[in-house]
This record gives sequence, structure tokens and C-alpha cells, in this order.
Amino acid sequence: MDVEPSESSPVIAEDDAEPPGLGRTSTHDSSRSSDTRSESPSPLGTIGAHRQLLEGDFWRVIPAYRDVSEATFLDHHWQSQHAVTRVDKLAAALGDLLPLAFFRDVEAGLERAPMSLRISPYIMALIDWRDPYSDPLRKQFMPLSSEQLADHPMVGLDSLHEQHDSPVPGLVHRYPDKALFLALDLCPVYCRFCTRSYSVGVDTDGVSKMHLRAKPERWEMAFEHIRNHEQIEDIVISGGDVHNLRADQIADIGHTLLDIPHVRRMRFATKALAVQPTKFLTDDEWVNAITGVAQRGRKLGKEVVIHTHISHPREITWITQAATRRLYGEGVNIRNQCVLLRGVNDDPNVLKTLVKRLSYINVQPYYVYQHDLVPGVEDLRTTVGTTLAIEKQVRGATAGFNTPTFVVDAPGGGGKRDVHSFEHYDRTTGVSVYRSPNVDENAVYLYFDPIGLLPEEGRRQWADPNQRATIISNAVIAAGHDPEMLPAAWGLPQRRRLPVM
Ligand code: SF4
Repeated sequence: MDVEPSESSPVIAEDDAEPPGLGRTSTHDSSRSSDTRSESPSPLGTIGAHRQLLEGDFWRVIPAYRDVSEATFLDHHWQSQHAVTRVDKLAAALGDLLPLAFFRDVEAGLERAPMSLRISPYIMALIDWRDPYSDPLRKQFMPLSSEQLADHPMVGLDSLHEQHDSPVPGLVHRYPDKALFLALDLCPVYCRFCTRSYSVGVDTDGVSKMHLRAKPERWEMAFEHIRNHEQIEDIVISGGDVHNLRADQIADIGHTLLDIPHVRRMRFATKALAVQPTKFLTDDEWVNAITGVAQRGRKLGKEVVIHTHISHPREITWITQAATRRLYGEGVNIRNQCVLLRGVNDDPNVLKTLVKRLSYINVQPYYVYQHDLVPGVEDLRTTVGTTLAIEKQVRGATAGFNTPTFVVDAPGGGGKRDVHSFEHYDRTTGVSVYRSPNVDENAVYLYFDPIGLLPEEGRRQWADPNQRATIISNAVIAAGHDPEMLPAAWGLPQRRRLPVM
């Protein structure tokens, strides 16, 4: 993995160039004609490239799915039952497509990863197994030991301090009028970069999770907190992923929250549109539960929407479009938030295509996040400088209401800050300083760029553990603040500017 500094020069392809990872060649005939896997894919940036969704029975390129019919592939039970959760299952699904060395690389990667392996057949079928090392979808869900890098010294398992801001287990109440309800700890896939790796998924070699099971007794404690805090108007129902809740659980949570008079807005969070969109086509009971809550909400003058998490344009196929069309037809609005990931979507043309493709299928691009400071995924993080440069390229590519806001979820619990709103950004040490007056007017919050992408001088300073407190203090002082305003959990107050040796 290239770890040379690149924050000042993100890959910017010409408008008529194909961005990495967009084109693939279908090996099977298809009744649907438009396939982005053609040998001569339409150039990105020309009219309509974002409209060319992968069509047909694309899953048949995978040896294990060669004889799988469309009806079977769309069956959400079949998708869940055939999720790849172990390296031997991966090898069995791929047959002889890849050498043994690749599977050993995955196995060694999993030993150091905070998230376990779980990949849906839908995503398995979209990974380009001819070049898995550079494939943007593989990178999100499957760690390779050969790519892993040492963590930044300031990463933490719960980098957003969600547990600190949880008055009851699984209810994060940080902003005055909004609460995040973590209804469960399971997902249809496990993303390597999950912010909630302290809780989501099964235990790994390195992490014993703080489990948040789908239990009505725990939920009732959260509902009671919401009932008792009239300022709360907005609830995000997340986890985990609401994909893994039963239909009756969706209805129970949704209608209970609608019954609370001061709750005005509700968002069901699911990555299923990116990784398991067949759920929306074949699990009618589940879809009806969500649309039923949304339709009752509309009658009550309350907003109920779906928030999803699509990271790369190639995750959107004809199946995704059919899923969003169904939801849109039922009056359910969808917004997307994704993370900027190195080697996945840290390319202006990939993001422009993503934004336009999302808009095309009636999904509003809402947020692009700076990658959180979580362990085990340093190879996926980008610098704030990269994010600034990419945002400049993306803004203006389409209508403003379909242009995402690029944000840093301020480590230490500052909440979401516009990435441009730092009060100081030192590109040598990679430290950016943010404030968040509505969360805590007396605090400063810091983000740290990956050390491997810093200039040599920055890498040299971080290499000396004795200089870390100084680097941090100097950044806070340069922003015009007192280092004692740092979150106490970091334990790094320094009142005076100290010389960097
Ligand atoms: S779907 Fe969301 S909650 Fe689940 S592993 Fe991925 S990022 Fe984490």
C-alpha cells in the first residue's frame, strides 16, 4: 500500500476518464442491456454515465452462484443464509479464481481486525475478483494483512465517545434536540471501518464487544428517556442495522416513537440498499412495516425517512434502483451518508458519479464523512486536506440540494462539523482543531490525519512519543485556545506552547 504523502494531490482524473473501479466486463449474457462492465465503458463525466447501472444476472460470474436464478438471488433469506462469514466459505464461493496466498492474506488480516467477516452474496458478486487487491468494494469489507498499517496513536475504539454521551445503554443524547437509538448490534455485512466496532458484530480476536441486543426491556429505558426529555424532536434508529430487525420490531419501535408527542422526525438507518437491496424487493412484511410507520407519520405531520450508506457508484445496480423506486413510490424519502475511504472513493470523479447516481435513483446525497479515528483501518483513512480538495471538485457537479456536506464527526464527542470549519489545520503534523459550541462551548476537538500521509517532518515528530503532547498543545494554541479545553479523556493538557524538538 502506498503511504507516501498524497493529501495535496488527490487523484483527479480528467472528466472523460474512467475513474478507478467503475468499469467491469460481464461474462454472461443478459436480458438487460446496459452493463457498466463493458470493455469500453462510457466515460465518466459525459452525459449519462451515472445512469448506466449494472444490469442482468451479474452474480453468475461467481462460481458458487453460476446456477443461481434471479428469483433465488433476490430472495432475502437466501442472501442472509449465504453470507460469507469465514475464509473457507470465501474460498468455496470463489472456487479457483484466486491463489491460496490471497486467502492467507485475508486470514492474517482478520486476526488484527476489530470487525469480523460478513459479506453478502450481492457484494460478493460486485467485487472484481480479477483484481481484488485494488477493488474498492473488497477494501471495505475484507481486510488484507498486506495492506494493514499501524494505528495512529490517537485512535480509540469508541472515538466519538458515544458511551460517554449515553444516559441509558444504546441511547446517545449529545445534541439538545436529537438522540441516536442503537436498537441492535447486528448488520447484514460488517464494514471494516465501522465507527461502532466497540459494539457491532461478533467478538473478534482483539475486541470483546459491548453488546447492544435487540431487547424490548432495554428499548423501554430509551423510550422513557425520550418521553422525559421534551426537547428531543429527532430520533435516529440505528445499531447495527435495522435490516436485522424483524418487521414487528420495526413497527413496535416506529409506532412507539410516533406516539411520543414531541418526537417530530425519525430516521431508520440501514446499509441494506448498498449491500443487500434484495431485502426491499422480497421481504414485503419488513418493507410494509417501515412504509406503514412512514405513512402514519405523514398523517401525524411527522417525517419518517430512511438513511442509507452507499460508498461507491458500483454498489448501485438495477436491483438497488428497483428497491429505491419501491420506497419512493410508497412515499418514503431516502438520504445517503458515506465515509471518504482511501482507495475506495477518495477520487473526485468517483464521488461525482456517486452523487449523480444517487440522485438519479431518488436518493439524496446528504453527508460525506471524514473517516473516524477507529483502530485497524489506517489504510482506509484520508487526510482533511484530501477531503477539502475533493469537496471543491464535487461542489457544482449537480444541484446544491443534491450536493453532500463534507463533515468531520469530531473525535471526543464534538458532533458533526463542516470539514472547512477548522480553526487551525497544521498540514505538517496533520492536526486540525474544531469547536462545537452547541455541544460544549468550552471544548476544542481535534482530528488527526494518518501519519503515513504526512510530510517527512510530520512523520518524524509523531515517531517520538515524547513529542505527542507538544504537537497537540501547539495546534490548540495556534487556534487561539487553551489546551485545557481538550476532552479530559485524552489527558493531554499543556498550558504553554512547547518547542518541537
Ligand atoms: S452497516 Fe453500519 S453499523 Fe453495520 S458494520 Fe457497517 S458501518 Fe457498522
